[in-house]
Amino acid sequence: ADPLVAPEELLGSPLTLIQSQPSLPLPFDLFRNNTGRGRDNSRGLDLAVPEHRQPLLDALATCQVPILAEATDADVDEAMTRLKAGFPAWNATPVAQRAAVLRRAADALQAALPAYCALLVKEAHKSFGDAISEVREAIDFMRYYADEAERLSDDGVALNGRGVFVCISPWNFPLAIFAGQVVAALAAGNSVAAKPAEQTPVVARECVALLHAAGVPADALALLHGQGETVGARLVASPHTAGVCFTGSTQVAQIINRQLASKPGAGTLPLIAETGGLNAMIVDSTALPEQVIDAVVQSAFRSAGQRCSALRLLAVHEAVADGVIEMLRGAVRELRVGDSANLATDVGPLIDDEAFQSISGEVQRLKSGARVIAEASVADGGPRLLAPIAVELSGIQDLKKEIFGPVLHVVRWSGDVENVVRQINALGYGLTLGIQTRIDSRALRLASEARIGNVYVNRNIIGAVVGVQPFGGEGMSGTGPKAGGPHYLLRFAAPATPTPVV
Ligand code: NAP
Repeated sequence: ADPLVAPEELLGSPLTLIQSQPSLPLPFDLFRNNTGRGRDNSRGLDLAVPEHRQPLLDALATCQVPILAEATDADVDEAMTRLKAGFPAWNATPVAQRAAVLRRAADALQAALPAYCALLVKEAHKSFGDAISEVREAIDFMRYYADEAERLSDDGVALNGRGVFVCISPWNFPLAIFAGQVVAALAAGNSVAAKPAEQTPVVARECVALLHAAGVPADALALLHGQGETVGARLVASPHTAGVCFTGSTQVAQIINRQLASKPGAGTLPLIAETGGLNAMIVDSTALPEQVIDAVVQSAFRSAGQRCSALRLLAVHEAVADGVIEMLRGAVRELRVGDSANLATDVGPLIDDEAFQSISGEVQRLKSGARVIAEASVADGGPRLLAPIAVELSGIQDLKKEIFGPVLHVVRWSGDVENVVRQINALGYGLTLGIQTRIDSRALRLASEARIGNVYVNRNIIGAVVGVQPFGGEGMSGTGPKAGGPHYLLRFAAPATPTPVV
């Protein structure tokens, strides 16, 4: 048992949940916290406490990140054949037994938390704070989907898998998203071919080994590491593929969607896609400036902006814009940009050289065409460190694409606030939205007008909590159903066989 997490705490939340509506029929979930302090996933593990910190540092000292061989075409084909053969036995395993396996895995992950945190710091360049939150989230996914499978089964839903599910995940949550996809597919009775991002295969390999040790049969789960264009595409194309769960960029989701649509039997294979966002926060003239700045800095720059939920656009009412921008400038200057293993670091490095080159290029482009209103400095040196920056745009329509790094765009607005929501809707994405206001009725109205999956009022817009804040977008941000919510498992399951009418 985890002494730091009481079981009831897993689903409790200090947030006032005014509306947690599953993805249907209302399109948004709305979360509010009038203190401005978001709940985070670290729950009680405090890096300032030496007894909490030391096991993490010990694990980091011994952590190895080997280079793994990539799967060949033959490896992919062999794995898919094996998983197809392993599917019926796993699917026939009673739901309670499948759930027990997943709970055993959750306990094992909890026990190995320092080792997984160290891997996330070394392989994915996470800060320790982010790494702790991520391991907690992965544990939550395992327990939540185990509970959900049993709940559905108790409600009379026959939770049968579809066959071999292909799960393709990104590097920015290489444990939590990877585990969340895999465990959901397994809980519903599928066998799983899991392809992690090429940058982060080692933490994925460890997670698969942990699931096997907990009781998932070898022929019900396989790791296929390699490039998306080769290994990923071959998995999607396999004749044994019964569905795809994908998290990553909108562009790759569209490629996979087209690929599935052109297969024989097109239209029958489900694609669950969670993709990018152009996420905004609307600040009106009644908002509390300190709360706004705290929420903006967390949302835009934590994890070096490498979160799908991260804030890309701050829309501030012109009456308070000068004051907010001045405070933002001061707060950004205070950010410590450096090595992720340093406990004092606020903003760590970007994932790889390619990302660093491409986002540095975007920053240069912005600097030549927009007003820089805040910029941090990189004190420590070190590879792939990009100073967080905020630039002012003349209008929301100037925001063209998701820049997956610590880059914030700011616009001023006046007049009708509904017009701001309309322009945000017109961007075509719909993942997260922040609203900062002290007028309650306005928050509710804007939230209902926004075509956005997750709306957060008077707090940051990142770090959704499994089972409490189902997470997912609409439009170009994803297909739904929301991860960590009550509809998710059903999409992995075969439709119920109709009862014959005689
Ligand atoms: P990405 O480039 O789309 O890659 C995601 C995964 O797809 C990787 O495993 C990648 O393999 C694989 N892939 C690439 N091309 C493929 C193909 N043709 N067929 C099959 N698989 C293919 O995204 P990323 O750069 O890893 O992640 C950042 C993006 O993910 C951002 O847009 C972010 O907003 C989004 N994201 C969304 C959520 C959400 O919940 N909505 C969460 C996290 C991230 P490689 O390893 O070879 O690239």
